[in-house]
Amino acid sequence: MRARLLEVIEKHWGYDSFRPLQEEAMTAVLDGRDSVVVMPTGGGKSLCYQVPALLREGVTVVVSPLISLMKDQVDALRACGVPATQMNSSQSALELRALEKDLFDGRIRIVFVSPERLAMPAFRQTLQKAGVSAFAIDEAHCISHWGHDFRPEYRQLRQLRDTFPEAGFHAYTATATEQVRRDIAQQLSLRDPLVLVGNFDRPNLTYRVLPRVDELKQLVEVLERHRGEAGIVYCIRRKDVDSLSEQLRKRGYDALAYHAGLSQEERRSTQEKFAAERCDVVVATVAFGMGIDRSNVRFVVHMAMPKSIEHYQQETGRAGRDGLEAECVLFYSGADAVIWKTMLARGGEEMEPDPKYLQAATRHLYDMDRYCSGTICRHRALVEYFGQQADAPSCNACDVCLGEMQEVSDALTVAQKIVSCVYRVRQSFGVGHVISVLRGENIERVRERNHDQLSTYGIMKEHSRNELRDLIYQLVGQGYLAQNGDDYPVLQLTESSRAVMRGEAQVRLRQPVVAKKKEPKARRTYVADGGEFDRTLFEALRKWRRSEAEERQVPPYVIFSDRTLREVARVQPTTLTALRGVYGIGDAKLEQFGEALVTRVREHASSGP
Ligand code: ADP
Ligand code: ZN
Repeated sequence: MRARLLEVIEKHWGYDSFRPLQEEAMTAVLDGRDSVVVMPTGGGKSLCYQVPALLREGVTVVVSPLISLMKDQVDALRACGVPATQMNSSQSALELRALEKDLFDGRIRIVFVSPERLAMPAFRQTLQKAGVSAFAIDEAHCISHWGHDFRPEYRQLRQLRDTFPEAGFHAYTATATEQVRRDIAQQLSLRDPLVLVGNFDRPNLTYRVLPRVDELKQLVEVLERHRGEAGIVYCIRRKDVDSLSEQLRKRGYDALAYHAGLSQEERRSTQEKFAAERCDVVVATVAFGMGIDRSNVRFVVHMAMPKSIEHYQQETGRAGRDGLEAECVLFYSGADAVIWKTMLARGGEEMEPDPKYLQAATRHLYDMDRYCSGTICRHRALVEYFGQQADAPSCNACDVCLGEMQEVSDALTVAQKIVSCVYRVRQSFGVGHVISVLRGENIERVRERNHDQLSTYGIMKEHSRNELRDLIYQLVGQGYLAQNGDDYPVLQLTESSRAVMRGEAQVRLRQPVVAKKKEPKARRTYVADGGEFDRTLFEALRKWRRSEAEERQVPPYVIFSDRTLREVARVQPTTLTALRGVYGIGDAKLEQFGEALVTRVREHASSGP
């Protein structure tokens, strides 16, 4: 069976091996055993049902919440020579009639449908007549109240089991919690399902959590490292999205804004441009996410801390879905948790106002804050949060393991200096003033209050303003200081401040390693796909792909993934036979695009350096 599965994968997709758990998941589908498959984004869930669909009698029905994505999914399958279609409300009665006929005649192996359509009795009859072997429920967590994206229309899927007692039911999701998993199985009346939970680590992602000191400058550094590549920049608030995207445009970046406050038209247009690779950088709130199917996102930046590790995992998960290296940078300040707490309490935009959620939300916030201020490997912290074990103590792909951040060795003393300065200025001044006093700045503002006479004046001279600001916010984040005040936030002491002064607190602070501060190590060399490649040729191939995609009105990834183009640029095959051996080139694609690719390679070779 293994051999037959691999044969199909190779023939249609041009891949030569399984990703983790794919074989088990595919075997379950072939055996008609129900399954719940949890894999991180980019883990390869779709192949789990698409490959068996070609080996079994009967139709495979894929339930997907996003009609807007179905066309792309169908196009991608057809490009691989898989007979697939979609049936939804965007089609005319005539079209649907023709599709039904194809279904009955066995000309279609995979059909994508919306949950609403499945709720229609007439449509269920059509499917019964066609003979369904398997249902694949994509984004299955949408059925659960416990999930982060409940959709009422998913609840209607419960009736399917009765109508199709013979068919296998398979649920796929990237949301990991035990509770959601159990709920999915129950809601769908799964029979003794095989539960497969993949490894949540994403080794191709490099995680960085850096103190936010000069956000625009720091962001521009990231953008410069990724010139010509795709990325998403997340902000907490809509107004931040608007102003940041505008600042980037002023600096000549082609950045678009996306948030729930924009018109549907604007949002759709941005999403389409991003998918079609006509725009590379989107500045967005969390609203930008579901339905982004661009696999070559090379960086995700968080301008501030997201409100939960689940959100962080999901948003960073949009980077590097093609398995190639990608970078996730979070610009963190201890003040972020404070902003979120205020928003939570107020129940403002995009927030759950319900007090019932407040407690859970606060816990999520603390977990996230602990992650940011932590000093253990990011990969490890993340997989452990999701209840899994890390394979290696060091990942070589995070700020901690790369040695870019370090713990402040005398954190308690540092905290004592800062806390006592807040006390000396009588808890009546903001961060900026406290910094001036600590640094011993000889300025009017300090002198006129006689703060140059304080014992804490100048006791932290050796630190820059930005460093001190970061340290103070870390203390605020950990509750050793508070920032209060309506008109003007002033630093004040908390219960825990006393423990600091008595030397009884376990304070941990982190700071960037000065020597390496300038330029984070160049992104990792292209280990993921076998080495260096010819950049010029790669860019030429991308350009070709973009025009090909525009002509066919499909997103570029439907033609080829970046990974395939890189390998072509590395191997530089000049014959069709050689090209067939390249990752991601199956029979159908060889036939459609083989000549064009080989021609590009030959042209490149003859143009020479
Ligand atoms: P998910 O739905 O889990 O987010 P996808 O199914 O979209 O992930 O797969 C992510 C990418 O990995 C796609 O480009 C897919 O073609 C590719 N992929 C899937 N399985 C394999 C495999 N066995 N070998 C190589 N690439 C694969
Ligand atoms: Zn690490």
